[in-house]
Amino acid sequence: MSESREVDCVIVGAGLAGATLAVGLAECGLSVVTVDARSRTAEAPGRDVRGLALAPATQYLLARLGLWDALVPYVTPLREIVVSDRGQFGSATLSCTTLGVPALGWVCPADRLLARLDGALTNLANVTPCWHATVTDLAPRTGRIDLRVVHADADDGERLSTRLLVAADGLHSAVRAHFGIGIASRDYGQSAIVCNADVERPQPGTAFERFTREGPLAVLPLGGRRVVIVRVARRADVANLMHLADDAFLADVRARFGARLGRFSAASERRAHALTLNRAQSLVAPRTVLVGNAANTIHPNGAQGLNLALRDVATLLDVVATAIANGDDIGSQALLDAYARRRRPDHERTVRFSDGLARVFGLDFAPVNALRGTALLACDLVPPLKRALMRRLMGLSGEVNPWLRAPQA
Ligand SMILES: Cc1cc2nc3c(=O)[nH]c(=O)nc-3n(C[C@H](O)[C@H](O)[C@H](O)COP(=O)(O)OP(=O)(O)OC[C@H]3O[C@@H](n4cnc5c(N)ncnc54)[C@H](O)[C@@H]3O)c2cc1C
Repeated sequence: MSESREVDCVIVGAGLAGATLAVGLAECGLSVVTVDARSRTAEAPGRDVRGLALAPATQYLLARLGLWDALVPYVTPLREIVVSDRGQFGSATLSCTTLGVPALGWVCPADRLLARLDGALTNLANVTPCWHATVTDLAPRTGRIDLRVVHADADDGERLSTRLLVAADGLHSAVRAHFGIGIASRDYGQSAIVCNADVERPQPGTAFERFTREGPLAVLPLGGRRVVIVRVARRADVANLMHLADDAFLADVRARFGARLGRFSAASERRAHALTLNRAQSLVAPRTVLVGNAANTIHPNGAQGLNLALRDVATLLDVVATAIANGDDIGSQALLDAYARRRRPDHERTVRFSDGLARVFGLDFAPVNALRGTALLACDLVPPLKRALMRRLMGLSGEVNPWLRAPQA
């Protein structure tokens, strides 16, 4: 085996959070190795049919890192979000005019975003992406952490020594498990079935979130007639729904959604995602930090998961950039602790919000149903409440971080 190679940072998991972080750390002048078990998106396109609702703060970060312009042809601005509760009175319309902003966010096909990130990793001089690979033999020592990168198709591996290790390896994080960091988990007993379809009467720029007792049903615009459908169902019903013929599945969606967009047609393949809440009990280990789904995996009802993950990325970039400017160690315990301290309040708020939605809209009990309707109505009619909710959803409340500010024209 070769001698150990020194790099500034190793990121395990080059998904949406890990790859974005790699681009940011490279911009800070660091040498970065990313290690991911998957293949490059370009080698396996069309795996992910989700449309991700990106908050403005996320868009700022992607623009700041030079990733946004190439995505512009594929993203759809969100100008209005209509929230309703099936079978109950009361709904709320969140509109960009309420805040005087051009868009509440953007819907981006998940595959396009990942392909953009994969391309960036490949083209950056100070990033070395390793695909079909995992890490083993993690061994912290004074000032560094040693590890081995093992490629799926090679017996041997490469030994690396780094100052900072980032666990961005998602829900089942192997790095988190290696350090014995526990997770608090709750299974929602639901899965999100996602597919794309055409609608008869498109409402450009409008997203719909309709809460039902089985779980929310979201319809997000993808441009033209195309939409993304996210139909959350009880786990016991998922196999049946996945086996339905396209027409029958779309008829079921329409029965729940209503007639507002007309008929649904031309369905893509369907993908099912099991929904759980998972919270890591610590965000740090020796010379190691957790970001994104490795730290928190939440219900997709509020479209907050990736936006939360990229706020992790932005905070880490901020503390690392400050350490570099001060000539400090980028993997010191003080830096890791500062990261964890700054992230906790946002994690608490965002988890409480999405978990609260899942619980409150999942109940079917007459007084609760009435309260829910009243709450939606109140949100629609009380402008300060509505503005506060929108600022939360848009990632505009919370700490100020230069990586999340709009770039100057
Ligand atoms: C149905 C659905 C809809 C959603 N919609 C939205 C939305 O509209 N807006 C939003 O903000 N969020 C949304 N989310 C949440 C969002 O998808 C996640 O928050 C986001 O993917 C987190 O990114 P991540 O990089 O942390 O994790 P992941 O995307 O899970 O990436 C983890 C990466 O680590 C790699 N990996 C795993 N194990 C290893 C290992 N042992 N070694 C090496 N590599 C490994 C994987 O291959 C993967 O590339 C949605 C989620 C679901 C399920």
